[in-house]
Amino acid sequence: MPVIETKNLVRRFGGTTVLRGIDLRVEEGEIFGLIGPSGAGKSTLLRTLTGYLKPTEGEVRVFGRPPEKFGTEERRRLGVMPQKFVLYENLSVKQNLNFVARLYDLSFFERRRKVREALEFVELWEHRRKAAGNISGGMQRRLQLAAAIVHSPRLLFVDEPTASLDPILRRRFWDEFVQLREQGRTLFVTTQYVDEAARCDRVGFLANGTLAALGTPDELRRQAFGGEVLELTLGGEPGQVSWSLSFLKDIGHVVEVREDEEAAEGPVSHARLIVDDADVAMPQVFSALNGADVRSVDILKPSFDEVFFRLVRGNS
Ligand code: ADP
Repeated sequence: MPVIETKNLVRRFGGTTVLRGIDLRVEEGEIFGLIGPSGAGKSTLLRTLTGYLKPTEGEVRVFGRPPEKFGTEERRRLGVMPQKFVLYENLSVKQNLNFVARLYDLSFFERRRKVREALEFVELWEHRRKAAGNISGGMQRRLQLAAAIVHSPRLLFVDEPTASLDPILRRRFWDEFVQLREQGRTLFVTTQYVDEAARCDRVGFLANGTLAALGTPDELRRQAFGGEVLELTLGGEPGQVSWSLSFLKDIGHVVEVREDEEAAEGPVSHARLIVDDADVAMPQVFSALNGADVRSVDILKPSFDEVFFRLVRGNS
């Protein structure tokens, strides 16, 4: 049974349709990344999955049940880190977390253990006595993560945790998400940063309330380019390459040959080959180019900026 499942989920606010028929499955133990620009409907989807909003049409199941009908026990299986989270600035880091942990009806000893575990996990234990208002913005965000996991939820929803954080802090959050997944938890993470797709097990790209793309990072790359991408560097003047390489399409496995003029520099040229299977195609390309001035053949992992640009353009 998937942990999250939606079928034709539609959500409207008055006359405005924000989610236009979302079909989604999230399996246990994966990090699902919901990526999309501001206003795409990410928070609305997250709030529908956590039971704070009812779907206008369609079905939502979380652990097999509509989340808006969850009782206290079922709710405890979820952890939510919303975009806007209130910290008590005058209370210490630990007091803030204790306050949240009290809501979960844990015994004194259990609460003490879990508060410490959560603060150690986000590396704030040493700062536990500082007032929450006096720690950095990045630390406050990590305290919010601690608050979302203090009761050891099976499924964690995180709404734009890395928004406006620097790259080092963003990476740290993602390292923590991977650790939480390794503990067997399922994560549903929203972000505006397309490069974060690479850290997810599966990704959905939300644009205008529709899932414009859905799959593993490798599936999405393949879908965007029609195969895997090899980058070829050759000696020789730019401008001649794609013409002279077009015979490669006849050796099989090569779907498309394109000169990469932007990457051209001096007497070296670059070409991109779209191939059905890079490991199989690479040696064949090498042997077909026997005698040519081949400087290198690399498997290119295109950036997710490019992947999503192609996927969304393809759908529009
Ligand atoms: P994202 O999280 O991707 O930035 P949101 O889900 O917050 O997008 O918002 C998507 C759209 O839905 C926006 O145009 C927003 O104004 C609208 N919206 C969200 N919540 C409400 C609401 N409670 N009432 C009316 N419109 C809303």
